[in-house]
Amino acid sequence: MFTANNIIEFSKQFSTQQACYQYLANCKWKNGYTCKKCDNTNYCKGQKPYSRRCTRCKYDESPTAGTLFHKLKFPIQKAFYKAIKAMEQDPDCLLTGQVEVDEFRVGGSEEGRQGRSKGKKREVVLAIKTSDYGIHKAYAQVINGAGTKELRPFFERYIAAQACIKTAGWPGYSPLKASYPFSKQYPSKKGKSLQLTPRYILMFKAWLRGIHHSVKHLQVYLCEYNYRFNMIKQKKVIFHDLITKMVKAEPIAIPELMRAA
Ligand SMILES: [Zn+2]
Repeated sequence: MFTANNIIEFSKQFSTQQACYQYLANCKWKNGYTCKKCDNTNYCKGQKPYSRRCTRCKYDESPTAGTLFHKLKFPIQKAFYKAIKAMEQDPDCLLTGQVEVDEFRVGGSEEGRQGRSKGKKREVVLAIKTSDYGIHKAYAQVINGAGTKELRPFFERYIAAQACIKTAGWPGYSPLKASYPFSKQYPSKKGKSLQLTPRYILMFKAWLRGIHHSVKHLQVYLCEYNYRFNMIKQKKVIFHDLITKMVKAEPIAIPELMRAA
């Protein structure tokens, strides 16, 4: 089973149509093969990649037949790519309860590759759901400055209106109070106003320095890091769930994919 804990591994594993078909075939016939037409359980190789041909009635079934992949109008690799995009930051439910929001900067010489990255710092907004046990779930997005215009769409996408939100004293958050009545700003006391976002930011920056060395694809790295983190917390394998749903032709997967398009 592919758990998609690394986007680069993903693109290697599904670099060809063949690999995608193989994965689908494994999903589809995981519990054994039965002919759809005559219930025969013996098959030989079919005409299309990874298709199976019934040895009795000769019905040739492809890995995509009867699945949502069959109905997609674009190539299968693109469908897989959409699946991983859907999975990277799928806000299957908005952050509720206790939520902390903070902005931070990444890049410039300190996080960049030595002698190379003179790129300017990038600004990121981060929202985490906190619980008694610490950080529960996190989403982050690269923004062009921390104005309300940039912050509002992020809030709308990831945070429930009734959440109890803590932010720093930054004025960009003030106009959002009308839509988020339980949000409260805490004036910075030497950076101590928020408890858990600073910890998360440190962890993310350490990971980024250790693995990626540059911030060229910062949003992808944020997605990857949050995905790993949220997966550990949720103990779910969204990618495999999504593909399995599509192989079983459960209609729920289509809007998920389209939303990610
Ligand atoms: Zn048959």
